[in-house]
Amino acid sequence: MICHESNTFVDQPIILESFRNDTLMTGPAIRDQFGKSHHEMGGFFAGLEEVGIEPVPLLAARIIPGSVITAETYDQLSSLLFGELESAGDLDGLLVAPHGASVCETALDMDGDWLARLRTQVGSRVPIISTLDAHASLSQKMVDATDAIVAYRTYSAPGPVRSRLESSRSHGTPPSVVKSDRDNRPAIHPW
Ligand SMILES: [Zn+2]
Repeated sequence: MICHESNTFVDQPIILESFRNDTLMTGPAIRDQFGKSHHEMGGFFAGLEEVGIEPVPLLAARIIPGSVITAETYDQLSSLLFGELESAGDLDGLLVAPHGASVCETALDMDGDWLARLRTQVGSRVPIISTLDAHASLSQKMVDATDAIVAYRTYSAPGPVRSRLESSRSHGTPPSVVKSDRDNRPAIHPW
């Protein structure tokens, strides 16, 4: 999860410390914090447990809402994410939770950017399933990088948790939850 919502009219830039003041963690600590929470990440863990898939938490970085993320901060978050990904070894799939409205100094579509980099890193055979906030700035880059995108049904409860749960299920079974067609466009689940 790299979760942020940018308001480009706000002057004060978002730095790594801003994330630290909200949420910035890697590895098993993420499960301790979010495993049972009424939060999107809680839905991931619950959904994976339900279908018997072992979760490998990589990164949880959140600050909402705020201004533009500095280029340096984006680099630092990327290093954390891709470092964790490399340490994790082979994974069967990725559940990702961009909020869908992040802007950084070097990428107007920051979420599309890191999702595209993630796709490049894992290749085309590893499914990437994403959740999105209802007022995300959905981009072609996000669509191209993912196999499926599941939007919140409602905001707040129970939308985030439920959409995460659905996306967790789509990674395993049943396939009818979110259809994915690698040769065409990923399906966007219409709530
Ligand atoms: Zn939002």
